Amino acid sequence: MVVSPPDKLMPRRCPGAIRADHPTHPVWGYRPPDRIPGLSAGTILEILRVEQRTGQLVGTALLRYREFLSPPRQWPLYPMPDVCSCPSCRLDDVRNARDVLEDALEQLPPRARAELRRRVMALDKEYRRRTLPDLWSDQETWWRRRLTVH
Ligand SMILES: [Zn+2]
Repeated sequence: MVVSPPDKLMPRRCPGAIRADHPTHPVWGYRPPDRIPGLSAGTILEILRVEQRTGQLVGTALLRYREFLSPPRQWPLYPMPDVCSCPSCRLDDVRNARDVLEDALEQLPPRARAELRRRVMALDKEYRRRTLPDLWSDQETWWRRRLTVH
């Protein structure tokens, strides 16, 4: 009979939760889409629906993507792999945030999709300009074929 050691039964510890001393760590750092300036009310509502349906933090992902690219003149930038895989900490890796945005774009109705896409495309342009291509990468999406911190 195989008995797992106790630590195998515990969920992974979350640096964000420890840092914030927060018992329900998945909501740590959550930014509801209504806190995102410049999005129309209709788009915010549709994003909220996607968040509720999928459990993905779309509003937070957009903000993390923007934060990664701030301040504007610092370059080059290197995406950093996440250290915790919970829905909030995962977004510390900007590439995961970009994945969430891509999923959301696929799920949004046309008008909201067009509005969010304009935002994302502006950030994509900046991301392309300020990260370096990884010529040996075999990753599927272009935002993952960039050099990362090791
Ligand atoms: Zn976490």
